[in-house]
Amino acid sequence: MDRRHFLLVPPSLALGSLALPSTSLSASIAIHSKTQLLARSGKGPRIVICGGGWGGMTSARYLRKLIPDAEVVLLERNPTFWSGPMSNKWLIDIVDTDFLNHDMLSPANKYGYTLINTEVTAIERDKKTVRTTHGAIDYDYLILSGGIRNAYEAWFGNDVRAAEYTRQHFPNAYIPNAEMFALKNKLKSFKGGTIVMTLPPPPHRCPPSPYERACLMAWHIKTNKIPGKIIILDPKPKIAPIGEGYKAAFEELYPDIITHVPNAKVTEVDPFNKRIKTAAGDFDFDDAVLMPPHQAADMVWYADLIGTGADGKPTGWADIHPRLFTARADEDVYVVGDSMGFISDQFGHYPKSAHVAHAVAKIVAQNIAERVAGKDVVPVLPDNLCYMMVNGDPQEEISVVFEYELDANGKVLQTQIDMDVRTADLVKEDFAWIESRFNDFL
Ligand SMILES: Cc1cc2nc3c(=O)[nH]c(=O)nc-3n(C[C@H](O)[C@H](O)[C@H](O)COP(=O)(O)OP(=O)(O)OC[C@H]3O[C@@H](n4cnc5c(N)ncnc54)[C@H](O)[C@@H]3O)c2cc1C
Repeated sequence: MDRRHFLLVPPSLALGSLALPSTSLSASIAIHSKTQLLARSGKGPRIVICGGGWGGMTSARYLRKLIPDAEVVLLERNPTFWSGPMSNKWLIDIVDTDFLNHDMLSPANKYGYTLINTEVTAIERDKKTVRTTHGAIDYDYLILSGGIRNAYEAWFGNDVRAAEYTRQHFPNAYIPNAEMFALKNKLKSFKGGTIVMTLPPPPHRCPPSPYERACLMAWHIKTNKIPGKIIILDPKPKIAPIGEGYKAAFEELYPDIITHVPNAKVTEVDPFNKRIKTAAGDFDFDDAVLMPPHQAADMVWYADLIGTGADGKPTGWADIHPRLFTARADEDVYVVGDSMGFISDQFGHYPKSAHVAHAVAKIVAQNIAERVAGKDVVPVLPDNLCYMMVNGDPQEEISVVFEYELDANGKVLQTQIDMDVRTADLVKEDFAWIESRFNDFL
């Protein structure tokens, strides 16, 4: 990494502890830094996609469909695909592990792209090269779909020990990795006491989903008659989105279990003594789901594509063209999914959802196909839709729909419709939604 790239990596990486934890990984980077990951094949453009989650796998499938002679290479560090959607339901066994966790080789073979299991460690845009733990790969177009990172340094500064302790003892399971199993095991063995759940400040991954998680954990506590309570520490002044639906669920289904505390911006976290200070008071806990602020995935920082706010500080999110999804600093780099930054002063960011990641991935594949064919790119906007389960028996959900349009000045405008009445019909729609999406890219 040159000095510029080094200075721009998030503090956690600069400290060399959270995301580059082991000397074996550093050694591997050194050994493989000169290795060519994959020789070019064919005459078409090479499109490299970093991150094989919702956005990355969808991009790969549609690029192969729309640009048949393109060489599409997907770089993903996990051996299998894990879905965020439905993972709260999985915590209480409404769906099983096979529903969330999928083989990635079959879709790669079915759709004809190359999948390489490796960790992206640097991006040199001046050389159009991605560096990984297994070698370097050059590209004509690059798509970054790495999701989010947990910005623990917002709480702990340079105290890597506190950050690691928090991650290990109070996992939040918001990134597809082993934390999901850890949280599920914790819930299964929970015998009672107070669980505190911190919500990140907006924008963050899947805004309604922490409340869904609280409801389903509360349902488990209620059903199993566990003497437990859940305190939601919310930095926002009120529950959003689907605020009325969640409020009704908290009050009608879990009045003795869930307490929602608004305006509870976290000011200090002491994971060792299980104590949190917030703008709404101090809280001791027996167990916790601790979500620090979210930011764009590390790879966006490596690529030096993080935006700068009016205060001159990094926004934490990719600086992109709001209608074309290209990085403002580099039109050959696209950002898809949760890493995408500011879109419109009417609503800020697109909701960081799988629905949006999937929709934008298809749009970006279409946009690249138009460019490769020498055509003008026609801007297309996504939509968004999220279903959230609030009751385990009978199974009932609420939902939210977002629609987007362009005004006469080209600004993106959002309309939000909350479905606050919980129904069993929305559960059916939810399962139909995810099956149609899984069938599209898995
Ligand atoms: C509990 C929960 C519930 C949710 N519920 C819903 C829902 O009901 N509906 C909905 O629409 N959305 C929901 N979401 C949100 C959804 O999961 C995300 O918005 C979606 O996954 C974003 O897609 P993405 O491609 O940006 O990121 P991801 O799907 O997270 O994919 C990113 C991929 O990049 C990989 N990666 C990251 N860094 C590197 C690297 N350096 N090298 C190699 N690979 C890397 C990761 O391993 C990962 O596979 C939920 C999320 C959670 C956590």
